[in-house]
Amino acid sequence: MADLGESWTTQQLVEFLSLVSSFPDEESAIAGAVERAAEALEAEVGAVVSDGRLLASTGFSAGNVQAEMLLAAAAGRSSVIEVPGAGSCAVIAVPLEDGMSGQLVLARAGDAFDSQEANLLRGMGRVLTLGLRALRVLAAERTLREHSQEQALENARLLARLRERQRLHERLAGIQRAIVQRSELQDVLDAVVGGAAEFLELDAVGLRLLDPEDDEWTVLVASRGMDAERFPIGSRAHIRDGVGGRAVSRKGLVVAQHGDLDEEAVAGLVCRSLEWAIAAPIFENGRVVGALSVGSRNPSRAYSESEEHVLLAFAEHASLALTDAKNFGTALHRALHDMLTGLPNRALFLDRLEHAAGRAKRDGAMPAVLFLDLDGFKRVNDSLGHGAGDQLLIEVGRRLVGCLRPGDTAARFGGDEFAVLLEEIHHEGEATAVAQRIMSALHVPFRVQGREIPISVSLGSAAMKDAGQDLVRDADLAMYQAKARGKGQYEAFDPAMHTTLVERLRLESDLARAVDRHEFELAYQPIVELASGAVVAVEALVRWRHPTQGLLLPGAFIPAAEETGLIRAIGSQVLQQACMQVASWQDRHRSPSPLAVAVNLSVNQLTDPALVGEVADALDASGLDPRSLILEITETMLMEDLEREMLARLKELGVQIAVDDFGTGYSSLQYLHRFPIDILKIDRSFVGAVGEGNDAAVARAIIELGQSLDLRVIAEGVEHPAQVATLLRLGCRWGQGYHFSTPRTAAELDELIVGRVVTGWDLPARVLGRPDGHRPMRERGSAGAAVYSARS
Ligand code: C2E
Ligand code: CA
Ligand code: CA
Repeated sequence: MADLGESWTTQQLVEFLSLVSSFPDEESAIAGAVERAAEALEAEVGAVVSDGRLLASTGFSAGNVQAEMLLAAAAGRSSVIEVPGAGSCAVIAVPLEDGMSGQLVLARAGDAFDSQEANLLRGMGRVLTLGLRALRVLAAERTLREHSQEQALENARLLARLRERQRLHERLAGIQRAIVQRSELQDVLDAVVGGAAEFLELDAVGLRLLDPEDDEWTVLVASRGMDAERFPIGSRAHIRDGVGGRAVSRKGLVVAQHGDLDEEAVAGLVCRSLEWAIAAPIFENGRVVGALSVGSRNPSRAYSESEEHVLLAFAEHASLALTDAKNFGTALHRALHDMLTGLPNRALFLDRLEHAAGRAKRDGAMPAVLFLDLDGFKRVNDSLGHGAGDQLLIEVGRRLVGCLRPGDTAARFGGDEFAVLLEEIHHEGEATAVAQRIMSALHVPFRVQGREIPISVSLGSAAMKDAGQDLVRDADLAMYQAKARGKGQYEAFDPAMHTTLVERLRLESDLARAVDRHEFELAYQPIVELASGAVVAVEALVRWRHPTQGLLLPGAFIPAAEETGLIRAIGSQVLQQACMQVASWQDRHRSPSPLAVAVNLSVNQLTDPALVGEVADALDASGLDPRSLILEITETMLMEDLEREMLARLKELGVQIAVDDFGTGYSSLQYLHRFPIDILKIDRSFVGAVGEGNDAAVARAIIELGQSLDLRVIAEGVEHPAQVATLLRLGCRWGQGYHFSTPRTAAELDELIVGRVVTGWDLPARVLGRPDGHRPMRERGSAGAAVYSARS
C-alpha cells in the first residue's frame, strides 16, 4: 500500500515538476503550483507565503483573499481556518526549502490531511523550491546573456559608426583631392551629391546654386534620385520654394517635415513627394551661393542629428570646391547650356520663353518660337560616325545663331532638335522670314571631315496668340506637320493642326491595317523611247484603295508609311506585285528585248538588310529576269557607305539601278561614279523648263553627265510634244509623262503593251544570249548599250 502510495506520489511529483518548470517566471510558477497542489489534495484553499507576504493563493473569490488568516496558518498559529463559503477547514503548511523562508499552505473542509498527503505536499514544496531555483538560474542566465548581447551590439554599433566615419572621411578626402587636383567643378559637385546620396541613403539629393543675375532664384546644378522630368538639371526654383531656398535665405541648416506648421515648407515637400528634407547652405568665400538638400520619401525613415552632420560636411566640401574653383559661374553655365554646341539648353530656353511671355502679357509684345529638326540626321551619324555628327550639329548651331537678332535665343533641345525664341515680333510674317532665312542658311551643304554633306531641315513656328498658349508644343506640332509634307518644309502653327494630328494618327493606324489586308494596288506608267513612242518599260506607282476614302495617291500616305516604317512591308508587296505583273506581260508578249519594270524604293527599304532577300524572292516567285527589274532610288540616298554596299549587293542579283528625281538633291553629283548606277531620271521640274522653251540648261547638263558616265537618261514629266523634240535634240532617248500616258491600271495597259509593238529595253546580245549578235534598234556606242556591256 505504502509502495503504491509512494509510486502514486512520485508520479504526481514528476508531473508537478514538469508543470512548475513549464512556467516562464517565478510568479506564474508559484501561482500554478498552488493551484495544482490544491487540486491534487482536494483542498478548498491554497497559498504560498514567504517572509510574511502572501505570494499566491487560490480558492478565494477576487478581492476576498484572507491574507492575514493564511499568514497565521502558515506560521502554525492556527490549525483550522474559516473559509468564506466553505466553512471550517483543516490547515496544512509545509516549508519551502533551501533558503526560501516560505510555506506552501492548503486548507480543506472535512477530513484533516493524513500523513501520506502531508508527505506529498512536502514533496511538492521541495519540487517547487527546485523548480523556482532552476527558474532563477535561467532568469539570471538570460539577464546575463541579454546584457552581453547588448554589449556586443553596442560594440558593433560603435564599430560600425567608426567604420562609417572612416568611410565618410575617405569619401570627403576623395573630394578634397579632386578639388586640389582641379578636377572639373561639375565632377566635384556631382561627387558631393553622389556622396551625400550614398551616405545618407536618401531618396533625393539636389545641389542648387544662386542665379548670379537674379538672386531670388536658384538653379539645379547636380542631383541624385530626383525626378528628372520635373526637376531637370538647369531647372530653376524660387528661393522661397523648398528647403534649399530656405537654407540659402537663412544661411543655415533647415529641416522640414511633413506635419510642420510651416505651410510653405510642407508644400515644397509635397511637390517633391518627400516626407522630410534637410538642407545645408553652401558658401563661396563666405558668401552664401547655394544649398545642398536631401530628402526621404519613406515615412518610416526618421532623420537623425548625425545626418545633419554628414550633410553639413558634404555641403562644406561643395563650398570648398566652389571657393576654390576658378569660377563658380561655370557650373551654372554648364547647367544651362548644351555642352556640344554651347547654345542654351532646353531649361534656359524655357526660362527665357517664360520671361518673354510674361513681358508679352504686360506690354503686348508677341514672342514666337521656331522648332527645327534636321532631316535624316541619324543617317549622317550612323554612316559617318558620331564625330562627324557632332561637328555637323556644332556648325548648324553656328549658322542658326547667324540668322538671329541679338535679343533672340537659339537653343539645342537635344539630338538634332533646335529651337529659336524670337523675343518680340510684330506680325507672324516675321517668324516666316526668319524661318526662311534659317532654311536657306542650312541649305548650303556642310563640309565635315572633308566631305560635303547636304542637309535639309523641317521647321515649324508658332507665334503667341493668347496668353495660355504653349508655344513650344505648337511650334513642335507645326514642325511635325512640315515633316509630314516631306523634307525641307516649313509650317506655321495653325490651331487646326491639333485636329490634323488626330487625323494623322488615324492614318497611321489605317495604314497598318491596310498592310495586313493588302489594300495596295499598282498603277503603271509607260516609259517610252522618245523617237518611236514605243514602250520600253513601266514604272509601278503604288495606290491605296482605302475602305472609306477611295483610291489614295502616294503623296497621301507614303510619308506616314516612311515615318512608321510600314513602307518596308508596303514596298515588299509592291515589289512582288510589280514583278508578277510584268512577268505575265512578258509571257504574253515575247518581244526581242523584254519589257522592264521600275519600282520605287524608299530610304527605309534601302537601309533594311532584308531588302536583298526580298528582291530575290520577288524575282524567284515571278520568274522575272533580274535585268528586267529597275530599282529607283533618290539622289540623297547615295550619300552613305551603307547604302553603297546595299546597292552593290542588289547589283549582284542582276537588277538595274535608277536615280529618281535627279537634279533635285545637291552635291552628290561628284560621287555619282562611285555608285553602281545604270539610269538617271531627270526630275520633272527641269523637263518642264525644257517645254517652255526657256531654260533647258539643267536638263542638258544632266543628259551630258549621263552620256559621259555611260548612263541611260530618262526625262520625267514629259507633257508636250515640244519637250519631246527638244529632249531628242539634246540627246535624251527616253521619256515618261502624261504626253505618252498617265499611270494606268494593269488592265488598262494590257492592250497597249500586249496588243501593240513594244520595243523593250534593248539588252545587249551577249546578255540575252542571242547567237546572231542582233543589233539593237539604236546605234551602238550610245549610253545604254555601253552600260550593259560594261556592267553586266
Ligand atoms: P515619282 O517616282 O517621281 O513618280 C512619278 C510621279 O509623277 C507619279 O506620281 C506620276 O503620276 C507623276 N507623273 C508622271 N508623269 C507626269 C507628268 O507628265 N506630269 C506630272 N505633273 N506628273 C507626272 P505619283 O504616282 O503620285 O507618285 C508620287 C511619288 O510617290 C513617286 O514619285 C514616288 O516617289 C512615290 N511612290 C510611288 N509609288 C511608290 C512606291 O511603290 N514606293 C515608294 N517608296 N514610293 C512610291
Ligand atoms: Ca520614281
Ligand atoms: Ca521621279
